[in-house]
Amino acid sequence: MNNNKVNKLKIDFNALGTINQIEIFNSNDESALKKAVHRVYEIDDKMSVFNKDSEVSRINSSAGKSVQPVSSDTFYVVERAKYYSRLSKGAFNLLIRPLINLWGINTKDARVPEGYEIESTIKLINYEDIILNKEDLTIKLLNEKQCIDLGAIAKGYAADEVKRILLSNNISSALIDLGGNIYALGNKIDGGSWNIGVQDPLDIRGSSIGIIQIKNKSIVTSGNYERFFIKDGVRYHHIIDPRTGRPSSNGIISVTIISDYSMDGDGLSTCCYVMGLLEGYELINSIKGIDAIFITEDNKVYITPRIRDYFILIDNKYTLVNL
Ligand code: FAD
Ligand code: MG
Repeated sequence: MNNNKVNKLKIDFNALGTINQIEIFNSNDESALKKAVHRVYEIDDKMSVFNKDSEVSRINSSAGKSVQPVSSDTFYVVERAKYYSRLSKGAFNLLIRPLINLWGINTKDARVPEGYEIESTIKLINYEDIILNKEDLTIKLLNEKQCIDLGAIAKGYAADEVKRILLSNNISSALIDLGGNIYALGNKIDGGSWNIGVQDPLDIRGSSIGIIQIKNKSIVTSGNYERFFIKDGVRYHHIIDPRTGRPSSNGIISVTIISDYSMDGDGLSTCCYVMGLLEGYELINSIKGIDAIFITEDNKVYITPRIRDYFILIDNKYTLVNL
């Protein structure tokens, strides 16, 4: 824990397969920070597919066999993930995991699968095969080899939970960054808005195409630039289009969602990435209180109308377009 000034505390920690940082201002309540970090570990323990003892892994290993009791946390996130799967007509798909495993993205076994392998794996990802029983908090996957993956939504839930814990400990000014899922809580110490950079998808981590000036909002980006492999000059990234079984390829290279809840931003950024510019924009437009920034491979930045009030483009290799 790093304490440069009396009224400011920061913690960096590894969880959710990524690097996280929580910074609180006008407070030196170390125990509140610890509670928040503990909560992130708890969510990781329950929802990770990388941990064979997690609740999600238990559901997956009993696929086609038995129902699994889960905590209200896991039930809620799976329920929302199914909601986003339906809302996006399957562009977001919480059963995507068998395809992720097939491609092996972010593992040493990454490879381009044969067409027949993709065709047979795609049969496993019907998200209506997840049976949720709210009465007794159980979940079942109907068929063997089916597999839930909350990688596109659970970081958002964790960010919302960190925010909730900080607020309940009377912390009213904080920056939460869970592997790029950002929540800007309250005002900066000087009373102004936060300046949050939007990652340049074509440049190194930390370089921004523009700045969002905001308070009490979540900012989440889905992009093709962090988890990928290159084979024969082609980049294969980690967001799979469930309709083709291949990395989503529709001209989009990044989508940023600005929302009140980070779980919505996380779910919707993945939805929009796969749906593409026009369909994605229509979806965002149909939901109150959500804004979006789409970056396309021809260096255009498309923004929803309200964003003009609080987004500044700072990189002149990009052109701003209103949708
Ligand atoms: P997002 O766009 O939000 O999500 C992309 C991810 O969602 C993909 O990596 C894939 O898993 C899944 N996905 C791909 N296509 C779709 C689709 N069409 N619909 C729905 N989902 C899709 N990574 C590790 O390497 N090691 C770990 O130990 C580890 N633990 C984790 C534990 C938890 C609880 C969570 C939530 C994630 C963990 N991760 C781990 C994964 C990682 O940190 C990121 O969450 C993930 O790679 C993608 O997040 P993103 O924000 O970049 O992209
Ligand atoms: Mg997401």
